[in-house]
Formats: sequence, structure tokens, C-alpha cells
Amino acid sequence: MALLSDAQHSVLPPRRFPGDSRRHPRADEMADYLTVVEAALGVETIWGVSAIGVEHPGNGSTLVLSTTRGTVQTRNVVCATGAAAHPHLPSWSRSLAVPGVAIHSSQYLYPRQIPAGDVLIVGGGNSGVQIAEELAASHHVTLSVRTPRRERHASRYPSMAQETRAWTGRGLIREPIFGNSYERLRRIGVTIVEASTGAEGAVVTHADGVRTTPTSVIFATGYESGDDWLPAINPGRLRSTTNMPGLFIAGMPRYGGARVDTIAGVWRDAARIARYVTDRP
Ligand SMILES: Cc1cc2nc3c(=O)[nH]c(=O)nc-3n(C[C@H](O)[C@H](O)[C@H](O)COP(=O)(O)OP(=O)(O)OC[C@H]3O[C@@H](n4cnc5c(N)ncnc54)[C@H](O)[C@@H]3O)c2cc1C
Repeated sequence: MALLSDAQHSVLPPRRFPGDSRRHPRADEMADYLTVVEAALGVETIWGVSAIGVEHPGNGSTLVLSTTRGTVQTRNVVCATGAAAHPHLPSWSRSLAVPGVAIHSSQYLYPRQIPAGDVLIVGGGNSGVQIAEELAASHHVTLSVRTPRRERHASRYPSMAQETRAWTGRGLIREPIFGNSYERLRRIGVTIVEASTGAEGAVVTHADGVRTTPTSVIFATGYESGDDWLPAINPGRLRSTTNMPGLFIAGMPRYGGARVDTIAGVWRDAARIARYVTDRP
């Protein structure tokens, strides 16, 4: 599995990605790159601690951050817990019981993880399409698609990333598929069917009434954002700010606008927040 963005658009400047800037790095190369960046920053990472709340008691400039390991008093808190923090699963996934595995796309690592047999991938976005392509060489793959996406050349990511509102103001235009197409998947043997709408044991129902009995199911049904630990706050007047003084948010469209949930976008948020924090009286 490779990044949608090329190396040039997957960097945290000024540290460049090794190798050709037009190639699309693999996920493990990105992980290595981030480890190198982290070491160069010289920050201390504390693993296994979750933020669970933040308050602004009284009128002072102190915020109280609550974590699973106690509280911290601080002037500034940056919420960078990700626009894609929690797997989103359809409610009917609980009624599904297949003989193989039923996993979210975030748990998918490589084809050998999926037992031999038919695989149903639920969701025709970029994750579903990439996994379908990779598994097609070793499994019989069916991809269920609710809203067919436009197809765009790989070089259009990240400039065309993210779903957008139609110019008529009605409905959402879903994020395109970058560097791939449903037609290409069909050519390599993937069966494309209508949206999956329910399950009863090992039987999955689709929007057109068709039923399938896959050995395994992969839910490529997206994510929910990681701002669920924040109190009820509103976006501030400036990007990445909130109405709680000293609380800033990086990488989440609700607070930062279009395409902030990409590596380049979150970098721009981070640079802006660093300026706000330094300039605060
Ligand atoms: C499948 C997929 C493919 C993508 N491909 C690309 C791509 O090719 N190119 C691109 O530019 N972007 C891509 N993106 C988007 C990119 O991953 C994000 O823009 C980027 O990771 C955002 O960085 P972040 O630091 O805001 O959030 P994240 O990288 O999501 O990091 C958030 C961190 O916060 C932690 N966390 C969550 N909740 C808490 C809590 N309560 N307390 C403490 N820690 C917490 C999480 O464990 C995680 O470590 C992709 C996203 C997905 C989901």
C-alpha cells in the first residue's frame, strides 16, 4: 500500500523525503520518515497516554488538560488527535458473522492476513479501491460501492483531496479516486456491486436486493475525527483557533478549512499554530 500523495507532497518541511520526489512512498517508508523527523525535533513523546478533556477555569490564562495519567496545567493546548482517529463501521456490521475475518481497513496490512476465499470490500473510496487492487492477485474480490467516485490522475492529490459541496449548494461531491478506476479494477477481475445495506450471519444484503456470502469482509467505510474528547467548543475567528483561549486545533476541516486533513494541510496548520502560540501575550 502506498501514499496517495507523492513524496514531494508528503513532507514536513524543511526535511525532504529521501529518493525521487515524484514517487508515492509506501506506508512503512512514511513511518520511518516520521521517526526521523521526531528524533530531529528533540521532543519527548509519551506513549500510551490519552487526552480526555480540557477546561479553562476562571478568567486566567491557564488551561487544565486532563489525561489518562492525571492533569496538566498549561497556557496552550494543541489538539492534533487526527481527522481520522476512529474507524467508522456501519451499524449492521454487528449482525455479521463470516467464517473468515471481518476487519476495518485500518487493520488491513497485507494479503496473507485474509484467509483464502471470497472477500467483500465495503466502500468504494480510495482505501477500498487500493485494497481491492492489492487483494485481486490472490483472492476473489467483490467491491461494494454506494456513491461512485470521479477518477482523477494521481498527480491531482492533494489539491483535489476531500469531499466538497456542489456549486449548486446541494449535496456533497465525494473525494475522487486518485490514480485508479473502477474500470481498471474490473479488468483485473474485481466484481463491483451495489452498496452493502445489511447483514444476517454470513449473508450480506445489497441495495439492489442481491445477497452475497463472502468468506471475509473488509470495511473501507471511513473514519471519525478525534475531537470527541474536547468539550463543546466552537471554531474561533481565525483558522485553527477555538473560542477557548489557548486551545488550538490542527488537521481537522471543521477548524481549518479545505484539505487540512492531508500531510501538507496539517503542516500548514501546525506552522500557523506555532505563530499564534509564540505571539500570544
Ligand atoms: C487511509 C488514509 C490514507 C491517507 N493517505 C494520505 C496521503 O497519501 N497523503 C496525505 O497527505 N494524507 C493522507 N492521509 C491523511 C493524513 O494521514 C493526515 O492528514 C495526517 O496523518 C494528519 O496528521 P495528524 O497529526 O493531524 O493526525 P494523525 O496522523 O491521525 O495523528 C493523530 C494522533 O493522535 C492520537 N490520538 C487520538 N486521540 C487521542 C487522544 N485522545 N489523546 C492522545 N492521542 C490521541 C492518535 O493515536 C494518533 O497518533 C490519509 C489518511 C488516511 C486515513
